[in-house]
Amino acid sequence: MPRFPRKRVLVTGGAGFLGSHLCERLVADGHEVICVDNFYTGTRENTLALHGHPRFEVIRHDITFPLYVEVDEIYNLACPASPVHYQFDPVQTTKTSVHGAINMLGLAKRVKARILQASTSEVYGDPAVHPQREDYWGNVNPIGPRSCYDEGKRCAETLFFDYWRQHRLRIKVARIFNTYGPRMHPDDGRVVSNFIVQALRGEPITLFGDGSQTRSFCFVSDLVDGLVRLMDTGDEVTGPVNLGNPAEVTIRGLAERVIALTGSASRIETRPLPADDPHRRQPDIAAAKAALGWAPAVGLDEGLAQTIAYFDRLLGTGSVRT
Ligand code: NAD
Ligand code: UDP
Repeated sequence: MPRFPRKRVLVTGGAGFLGSHLCERLVADGHEVICVDNFYTGTRENTLALHGHPRFEVIRHDITFPLYVEVDEIYNLACPASPVHYQFDPVQTTKTSVHGAINMLGLAKRVKARILQASTSEVYGDPAVHPQREDYWGNVNPIGPRSCYDEGKRCAETLFFDYWRQHRLRIKVARIFNTYGPRMHPDDGRVVSNFIVQALRGEPITLFGDGSQTRSFCFVSDLVDGLVRLMDTGDEVTGPVNLGNPAEVTIRGLAERVIALTGSASRIETRPLPADDPHRRQPDIAAAKAALGWAPAVGLDEGLAQTIAYFDRLLGTGSVRT
C-alpha cells in the first residue's frame, strides 16, 4: 500500500548497496525519489530497475559540496562503508561524513525537511560493553586506520544533535550494524561478499585473524524497513536507534556457513587481522522494538542463500542448484 501523503525524498548515496534498495522501497511506497550520488562506490546499475520511472531521478553530486533541492525528507547514506574503500582516501571519508552532514543538515534547515543519518555500530569502536546499547559511548581509537570512518560518523551524530538542540531540526539517527544482501559489489571488500565470491569461484576463503571475532549480520530488506519506520516516527523520536540483527556469529562460523551453503570446495586460509578490528559486535535492539515496532525477520541462512543466488547469477558461476 502506498504511504500517503506522497513525499519528495532525497536519498544521498542512493546508488550504493543500501541506498539503491531504499530508493526502490520509497518509489514502491508511492514517493518521489531523488537519488544523489558521486558514484565513488555506487553504480548506475544499482538503480537500473528505476531508470525511466516518472517518480525517480538521479543527480551526480558530491555531498561535500552544497546542494539545492526542495524535498520533504532526507536519508543521508552517502559514505563508503567498506573498510577497504573508506581507508583508500581517508581524508575524503571524513569530509563526506562531516562536510556532507553539514551540507545536508543545512539543506534540511532551509527547506524544513526531516533528516535521517545512516550512522553505524562503528561509533562503539571495539566495544567494552556487550551487547551494545545506545547509551554506551564507545571505545574508539581517534588516530587509527578506521578513525576516518568511526570519528567521521561520530562527528556527524554530534552535528545532528546540535542542529536538533540549536535549530530544532527534525532528526533521526540510525546506528546500522553489519548489513548484507544482493547488490553488494563483488569487489566491495566486506566479509559477506568476499566469502561468497571466493566460495563461488573456488578460491581460498580469506579469514582475517583466527576468526573468533564476531559480527551480527542483518539482511538488507530488514534494515531498509527499519530505516523507513524510523523516518515515519513522530518528531519526538530522534534516536540514536540501533538497527541490526542480534544473531551473533564468529567470522570463522560465517566462513563455514558460506562453504556449506555454496557446496564449495574452497579452503579457509588465514590472513593477519587488520589493526583495530573490533572483537565483538552485537546490537541490543530493545529501543528499535519499542519505538518502531521493528525486529529483523530474515535469518542468516535464508539471507545468505538469497545473496549467494544473486552473486551466482552476477558472476555466471552456475554453482548454485535452484
Ligand atoms: P556503499 O558504499 O555501497 O554506498 C555508499 C554510497 O555513497 C555509494 O553509492 C557512494 O558512491 C556514495 N558516496 C560516497 N561518498 C559520496 C559523496 N561524497 N557524495 C555523494 N555520494 C557519495 O555502502 P552501503 O553499505 O550502502 O552504506 C550506506 C550507508 O550506510 C553509509 O553511510 C554507511 O556508513 C552506512 N552503514 C552501512 C552499513 C552496512 O553494513 N552496509 C553498516 C553501518 C552503516
Ligand atoms: N574479514 C575477514 N575476511 C575478509 C574480510 C573481512 O575475515 O575477507 C573480517 C574482518 O577482519 C572483520 C569482519 O570480517 O573481523 C567484518 O569485516 P567487514 O570488513 O565486513 O566489516 P567491519 O565490521 O569490520 O567494518
